[in-house]
Amino acid sequence: MFSVGLTGGIASGKTTISNLFAKLGVPVIDTDVISRKLLQPGELTYRQVCAHFGDAILGANGEIDRRKLREIVFTDSAEKAWLEKMLHPLIYQRSHDAIVANSRADYVLVVIPLLFETNFQSLVDRILVVDCPAEQQVERLIRRDQIDETLARKMLARQLDNSARTARAHDIIDNRNETADLETQVAALHQRYQQLASA
Ligand code: ATP
Repeated sequence: MFSVGLTGGIASGKTTISNLFAKLGVPVIDTDVISRKLLQPGELTYRQVCAHFGDAILGANGEIDRRKLREIVFTDSAEKAWLEKMLHPLIYQRSHDAIVANSRADYVLVVIPLLFETNFQSLVDRILVVDCPAEQQVERLIRRDQIDETLARKMLARQLDNSARTARAHDIIDNRNETADLETQVAALHQRYQQLASA
């Protein structure tokens, strides 16, 4: 089963691009969605997080308050390591299962925001990086999430440099332009991936 991992910095355009692949009929697996599912009631990992952080981590509806959890791991590297050690192997396994479950498709796209940081390279056959200038990421982040510039720059500073990602990519999508141009780039890559998958 041929799989393509899509990665890129925060607000670089991963969702926008994965939606374009989905429009072409490509199954899309999103590791963020899997990660969110693992924190929902009914999952063993939900109970482990509740036991570790206590009831203070829960919102009024009994669900894990993801904003609170984000704040904790943003400021405490030991807690971040604890959470990642628990979640990452499960995210890898569930992504792998989802790839196998889609084996009738030509290929699948797996959106992995932290592909290099989590060493998920072995999950996919090919790595597609979406690249755009950091200044544009900041602009898009402020506009989309209604946050101030200082926070946007702080979030960006905690991430891998865009150049570190593109240096390890098989393919790169340049997302400094308008969305129409993205469609052309995605269509060309789609054709290439179909050829590679059938080779
Ligand atoms: P995150 O890392 O936070 O999950 P992301 O990489 O999935 O973000 P998107 O949500 O796709 O990024 O894009 C970030 C914002 O920038 C969105 O509001 C999106 O509509 C906008 N955007 C992305 N690409 C373009 C483009 N080529 N032209 C105009 N706006 C764009």
